[in-house]
Amino acid sequence: MSIKFEKVDYIYSPKTPFEKKALDNVSFELKENSFVAIIGHTGSGKSTLMQHFNALLKPSAGQIKIAGFTLNAQTSNKHLKKLREKVSLVFQFPEAQLFEGTVLKDIEYGPKNFGYSEQEASELAKKWLKKVGLPISVGESSPFDLSGGQMRRVAIAGVMAYEPDILCLDEPAAGLDPQGKQEMFNLFKQYQKEGHTVILVTHNMDDVAEYADDVLVLEKGKLLRHGTPEEIFSNSEWLLQHHLAMPTANLFAKKLVENNLNIDLN
Ligand code: ADP
Repeated sequence: MSIKFEKVDYIYSPKTPFEKKALDNVSFELKENSFVAIIGHTGSGKSTLMQHFNALLKPSAGQIKIAGFTLNAQTSNKHLKKLREKVSLVFQFPEAQLFEGTVLKDIEYGPKNFGYSEQEASELAKKWLKKVGLPISVGESSPFDLSGGQMRRVAIAGVMAYEPDILCLDEPAAGLDPQGKQEMFNLFKQYQKEGHTVILVTHNMDDVAEYADDVLVLEKGKLLRHGTPEEIFSNSEWLLQHHLAMPTANLFAKKLVENNLNIDLN
């Protein structure tokens, strides 16, 4: 099932002196099971767009089709729990939301909230603790005794443990060291390979070139371009015009070669 935005506008504080159109006539369609990067300058509307995927914000105009739901300005909050089980949104620095006494309890919280039994939630928590690269022994520790990088993993495990179809993340690797970052992105890539859709906001063009297969470029609330990393990054003049960075040349070249090889082999 694809994700479809149809002429979506979003206006903060409408009909007040602070009125601000943060999304302006945004239309696109994303394929199921893709790895999507949303890029653009600060203030271009990336966070506003992300918050529409699970209806934290609803379009002021236009509509969104996602996970069997149609969302528009009239959508009531009543039936959105099922949507939020299928589409989860992870904000920047999600470790700030940890609150339980132990790591495992914290990871179990999400699955329990969505109706999994104690036993199922406990099994999912152990599975995801391992998947995010933490030893089971950490499970009984207080999340607040962990390092910042470990806390991030626990917070992400808590969201992935109920295995949403669509995982949306805002700068998930912000503040992590290079190795932690790579492990985190590998985890998301693996999640995609297992049949899920991953959508993330990032400022790092190397991550876009290496992991994403679809890119949305926002500028001042409008969708400037939608294409593969190859399409987006192959026009350096256009990138320069819009003050967008290029990925490291080597990495991009490597990706192009890999893709060409795939084409040859097929
Ligand atoms: P990005 O994530 O790309 O930095 P945002 O979606 O946060 O962009 O913001 C898009 C625009 O909307 C910006 O001009 C920002 O100042 C404005 N904006 C964001 N949040 C609010 C808010 N709560 N109230 C009013 N304006 C906002």
